[in-house]
Amino acid sequence: MAHPVILSIDDDPAVSRAVARDFRRRYGDRYRVVRAGSGPEALDTLREIKLRGEQVAVLVADYRMPEMNGIEFLEAAMDLFPAARRVLLTAYADTGAAIDAINLVDLDHYLLKPWHPPEEKLYPVVDALLEAWTASPEAATTEIRVVGHRWSAPSFAVRDFLARNLVPYRWLLADEPEGGRLLAAAGVSAADVPLVVTADGKALVAPSETELAGLVGLNVVPAADFYDLVVVGGGPAGLGAAVYGASEGLRTVLVERRATGGQAGQSSRIENYLGFPDGVSGAQLTDRARRQALKFGAELLSTREVVGLAEAGSARLLRFDDGSTIAAHAVVLATGVSYRMLDAPGLAELTGRGVFYGSAATEAPSCVDQDVYIVGGANSAGQAAVYFSRYAARVHVLIRGADLTASMSSYLIDQLDRIDRITVHPHTEVVAGAGEEHLQRLTLRDTRTGERRDVDASWLFVFIGAEPRTEWLEGVVVRDERGYVVTGPDLVAGGSRPPGWSLPRDPYHLESSLPGVFAAGDVRAASVKRVASAVGEGAMAVSLVHRYLEAQ
Ligand SMILES: Cc1cc2nc3c(=O)[nH]c(=O)nc-3n(C[C@H](O)[C@H](O)[C@H](O)COP(=O)(O)OP(=O)(O)OC[C@H]3O[C@@H](n4cnc5c(N)ncnc54)[C@H](O)[C@@H]3O)c2cc1C
Repeated sequence: MAHPVILSIDDDPAVSRAVARDFRRRYGDRYRVVRAGSGPEALDTLREIKLRGEQVAVLVADYRMPEMNGIEFLEAAMDLFPAARRVLLTAYADTGAAIDAINLVDLDHYLLKPWHPPEEKLYPVVDALLEAWTASPEAATTEIRVVGHRWSAPSFAVRDFLARNLVPYRWLLADEPEGGRLLAAAGVSAADVPLVVTADGKALVAPSETELAGLVGLNVVPAADFYDLVVVGGGPAGLGAAVYGASEGLRTVLVERRATGGQAGQSSRIENYLGFPDGVSGAQLTDRARRQALKFGAELLSTREVVGLAEAGSARLLRFDDGSTIAAHAVVLATGVSYRMLDAPGLAELTGRGVFYGSAATEAPSCVDQDVYIVGGANSAGQAAVYFSRYAARVHVLIRGADLTASMSSYLIDQLDRIDRITVHPHTEVVAGAGEEHLQRLTLRDTRTGERRDVDASWLFVFIGAEPRTEWLEGVVVRDERGYVVTGPDLVAGGSRPPGWSLPRDPYHLESSLPGVFAAGDVRAASVKRVASAVGEGAMAVSLVHRYLEAQ
């Protein structure tokens, strides 16, 4: 397979040569570096690349060019290669235009000229962009192939699992020739899908998540039965706790029931996390955090759900869904929250077949030129609207209220306003969904007049808030009326310590009503529901674990 392309465009031949030379020096063995002297010439080149079925990883365009400036070029290039990472080369005087472009063409980065020395100014930026691109479904090599039906919930679950674990794969429809050939080779019929075929030809029919995890090299079995620290949940809070725990010498295992990253892993672009002025995708942040935790020696288990917690003397015992257990001196609960389901007739049956919870980025390429409906008015819905607008003909954002101001950050509201393909429908709710094989129709209701109307719709993405899934902690730690874990000062707010509390001190700040069990991130009552605060609480919980262990 041909190497993916890095394309640079500059009308100044000397600059163009210098950029290409710097790229070839570092990336020439893995990427094909191509250069063009103008926007129109570069678009012709991109069309050829598209026809040859090759991939473009990064586009680097100079801002000031005669016929077509860099932003106009990047906008046109998005139609051909929406997943390619976009960089604008600018002079200092043009940084204002570059900042506007961040919203207009979803720019990944702007680089000030000159970029010397490239080791400091160019390569770190391009390394990060290539890392993110490599993790996108578009970058898929032929390594893992998934054969399935477009409208099949089990096929979607396999693709979603691979994407959330950053495993590239190639998606083939069962009724396409290549999909059919693979089914025949594996000796199964289209009724048996999804079929997963690895690079070395191993075929798995309708695999479970644990089988898939094993297939792609994720760890599913703990190496020991006793740890200093067990972290439950692999979102930002859990990953933060694992990084700090392991780096500070605690024997740490993190247990994640699905894929690390949690809610943040589903975010197409986190723009308010410190240190990422151009935003960072949830997938990229997760990948880095995972590698950081592993580097420090934390063990990460995937597809393992914790369903029980008990006190066993000074140890804390955690039970997995298969009945097996592990124990630890201390526990950090970082189980976050899960999407609330939209309760309207017809939708439950169509989940995974046109109705999705969260952004389900795997589906975006299938939405090309179609209408997409998004329910919800918070930032997560706004980010999804921006992301899907790159693919869909129209994106309809349905909200019950009059406008988005109460629920969405103003930077996102501004982005939505600027994208013609996005329409916000106020005072609108979904009251039913219908379809044979997949979602085909939605019934919408005007919340003021009660008037109902049907619309043809194949894609519905729901973001209507979330709730903690902490039923398994019933009777073990104190939770509030909505299920969030109560910690620290809130446990002694009434003047007395929580029932059963055995120590001659109050609970530490993030400590639950069971000594040595801490909560961090979204699952904690009264926490701020943000990536930065979740990571911060994960780190803080570890320092409290140390304090707890020292006093033991
Ligand atoms: C689409 C989207 C976009 C967002 N964008 C932003 C943004 O731009 N900026 C921002 O600051 N915040 C954003 N947020 C909010 C932010 O992602 C959350 O506040 C943050 O992820 C909370 O982290 P957490 O680790 O506490 O929980 P979560 O991210 O919810 O992670 C919890 C993890 O625990 C696992 N788990 C749960 N129960 C168990 C169990 N019993 N056993 C094992 N594992 C379990 C779950 O599978 C999950 O992976 C966004 C959220 C969404 C959904």
